[in-house]
Amino acid sequence: MLERPPGRLRSLNLVSTLRCNLRCMMCDIWKTKYEHLDMEDSVLQKIGCSDVVKDGYKTLGKDFNISVTGGEPFLSENLESVLSFIKETFPGNPYTITTNGTLTDKIIRAFSKFGVKGSRLHVSIDGMKDTHDLHRGMPGSFNKTMKTIKAVRKHFPWVRLKMKFTITKENLGEITDAYELSRQMGMEFGAKPVEVAIHYTNPGGKPGFGTSFSGPDRLVISEQLKKVASDCLRRGESANAAFFLDTIRYINKGRTIMDTCLSPLGTAFVMPNGDVFRCLHFNSVGNLAEGSFDDAWTSRTSMSVIESARKMDCGGCASFHGSYGNYADMFLHSIKNIFP
Ligand code: SF4
Repeated sequence: MLERPPGRLRSLNLVSTLRCNLRCMMCDIWKTKYEHLDMEDSVLQKIGCSDVVKDGYKTLGKDFNISVTGGEPFLSENLESVLSFIKETFPGNPYTITTNGTLTDKIIRAFSKFGVKGSRLHVSIDGMKDTHDLHRGMPGSFNKTMKTIKAVRKHFPWVRLKMKFTITKENLGEITDAYELSRQMGMEFGAKPVEVAIHYTNPGGKPGFGTSFSGPDRLVISEQLKKVASDCLRRGESANAAFFLDTIRYINKGRTIMDTCLSPLGTAFVMPNGDVFRCLHFNSVGNLAEGSFDDAWTSRTSMSVIESARKMDCGGCASFHGSYGNYADMFLHSIKNIFP
């Protein structure tokens, strides 16, 4: 155990459940038999007691990033506990929920009861209607998700909506169509290539995912992301433009512009069973059934993950953009960790 916590926690990601109602082609969660499907109160209590969590929240305030994900979070049998934990522990702080958007009524109910102004709803959309339904393994899912987006827009205009597009071999021709749809629907837009995360969405591992696009495919992706970046620039959204241009670099070279990664220094993912990860490409740094959050945060495994990330032993990824609101935020985080 080390005396001083390494890095200030700034991004707390709660995997509220491993249940999912869809059958996506790029995610294995729904196939796997897990013992702990939903995040339990004991895990939440351990997080609430943590000095590392308290320090991150106290220091960063509204910049302390809290996100709820899954599986499909709105299927969690303990979602009410997770959301009320967030409201009580981080009062007034907006948070992010990532969803497939199909469970309209549950989403509306959750925001009615636990909504905080400025919160974000990230909705996965992987193409236009038929392509999206193919990816999600469920006919009708696109229409359900569109219904949710409209309902959230109508009832909770203060929710920040973002479309999350996962680029695959099957949908790479529809990036600009999805981008235009996001603009029409008043949503922000994010796109990244599908990646294997063996500790998370692909516990079985699926070869052929990630940056393994063919040369012609990479060209099609790059051309579309350039169009998206240029539209962002035209609108004065330079941080978003930089993000898409860097994604092009990643798809073509397997590396982003960064030659080091500080994401694990400030990021924690907590699984329903209490496993804590600093990065989902590395092993768990501890478990909340066996010790405290602060034990995990300061463990030797934590140190070795941080060191490996600094040296990019992982080979790099595009996922770490997902830990931040936008590209500019990522640089800000790096600076804050160097000059806390
Ligand atoms: S670049 Fe490496 S350490 Fe950083 S988030 Fe990606 S896989 Fe993790």
